[in-house]
Amino acid sequence: MTAKTVIRMGHPTLRLVAELVDHNDIFTSAFKELLTDLYDTMKLEGGIGIAAPQINISKQVTLIELPANSERYGTLHTSPLFIIINPVITIIDHTLQGFWEGCLSVPGLRGFVERPRIVKIDYIDEFGENKTFVAEDFLATVFQHELDHLFGKIYIDRITDTKKLSYLQEFSDFNSPKKEDTLDE
Ligand code: ZN
Repeated sequence: MTAKTVIRMGHPTLRLVAELVDHNDIFTSAFKELLTDLYDTMKLEGGIGIAAPQINISKQVTLIELPANSERYGTLHTSPLFIIINPVITIIDHTLQGFWEGCLSVPGLRGFVERPRIVKIDYIDEFGENKTFVAEDFLATVFQHELDHLFGKIYIDRITDTKKLSYLQEFSDFNSPKKEDTLDE
């Protein structure tokens, strides 16, 4: 395990636009190590996504994986492991959908965020190949949350109704939406 410390809201790195990854760097052992560190950290922290800036590496890399055996998400939302490098996001369907979001960099809180329902992501994968993925519904929110980290944004910035920002305990006491409508990244 090479899990790293997750930096928290207030750390300036979370507010930077992360640097693009040089294509040649993708094939270096240092970059592979970064991917391993991100994966191990995501797993240790129980997240379904993590972005390099969250471990204080200001590069445009993020991992997303909704595991099939997740207690929180069950089998409703699953995905393979995505390794996303230098992404460009395009909104396909502007219809807003809301989920209660959490973030490894904002521990102890939940907030309700509305985001577009379908987005297209053009990116480079871990083999240096150009890829395109269209994310819908819950997964679209996960992608937008993670990609925001690469551009200096945190989900707190996206909350339009601050009455829907809550500590975890109060969230479970008073909001308790269906489990599948929440995410931790
Ligand atoms: Zn996050």
